Amino acid sequence: MKQKRALVCGGGGFIGCHLAKRLKSEGYWVRCVDLKHTEFGDSSADEFIIGDLRDPIICQKVLEGGFAEVYQLAADMGGAGYIFTGEHDADVMHNSATINLNMAYYSNLTGVEKIFYSSSACIYPEYNQLDPDNPKCSEESAYPAAPDSEYGWEKLFSERMFLAFHRNHGLNVRIARFHNIFGPEGSWNNSKEKAPAAVCRKVAMANQGDAIEIWGDGKQTRSFLYIDECLDGVRTLMNSDYIHPVNIGSEEMVSINQLAQMVMEIAGKDLKINNIPGPLGVRGRNSDNNLIFESIGWKPTQVLRSGLEITYKWIESQIQMNS
Ligand code: NAD
Repeated sequence: MKQKRALVCGGGGFIGCHLAKRLKSEGYWVRCVDLKHTEFGDSSADEFIIGDLRDPIICQKVLEGGFAEVYQLAADMGGAGYIFTGEHDADVMHNSATINLNMAYYSNLTGVEKIFYSSSACIYPEYNQLDPDNPKCSEESAYPAAPDSEYGWEKLFSERMFLAFHRNHGLNVRIARFHNIFGPEGSWNNSKEKAPAAVCRKVAMANQGDAIEIWGDGKQTRSFLYIDECLDGVRTLMNSDYIHPVNIGSEEMVSINQLAQMVMEIAGKDLKINNIPGPLGVRGRNSDNNLIFESIGWKPTQVLRSGLEITYKWIESQIQMNS
């Protein structure tokens, strides 16, 4: 049988580098493209192209040879400290939309068989996420749209654009709305890190009895999905016929202070929490996995703590290596 070819856009990033490894283990020939190489160790890809997907010529070049599957993960993104301060809004919208416009257009033109687009839980309206104990993030609740960030608006636009290519040109799309994916080999100290990595770093660097700083009052809620589970969801979705956007996330909702407590338990450290002002995002958010389970039979299988244990160990080792 002919080896299937997959292109991972954003293959130098956190999810992209894990995805390339996963696709290799499943027997694919993999090409990655990114502005930069993977930060932690070599990529598993057969070919790694350094290129800017805002440039249409680069998009055509990376699609050469034809692909059974394209994974469009490249985006200008980061954690709350990057997305919610407002300072990067123009870049986030312009860079990510340009990449998506190019990749949809040229994937269609070059006859890509199937394309995956990574959207985000940030598309959900703020008005459904004001109560930290009762957020609503079922897929149909996306409209009337009112995301709380320009990052979310761009994701929503691009979802619609990929769906329009499906309707008008038959582009075979799959769209997932990721909810806080975490794990080893992700940003942990470059101001683009997300809450799990930031909390792991703060706890790992603290001495017994110290205080760690947590943004907000710590009662804001989120759920976090471990990278391997995310990839199971992505691969199940890709192998299905389901073209509408679905959540890929965990339903184990915790407050950020609870997340910090969990990490302290893992570390065996008794620390104080100092809640300070900071960029926050919505008050509460949790994945709703009813639709994805009903439509393609996927749901996460691990508890948050098991992924956090692995991530904590990895961040601890990074700190040791860098000290
Ligand atoms: P990441 O920032 O680690 O990876 C994105 C990659 O895209 C980076 O390596 C970056 O260099 C690359 N990129 C940016 N601009 C580019 C350009 N012009 N040309 C080529 N490459 C470019 O992020 P991630 O966590 O791996 O996320 C992957 C995708 O999933 C993103 O689209 C993100 O918005 C989405 N997502 C992630 C999460 C999460 O929790 N990690 C949640 C929701 C959605």
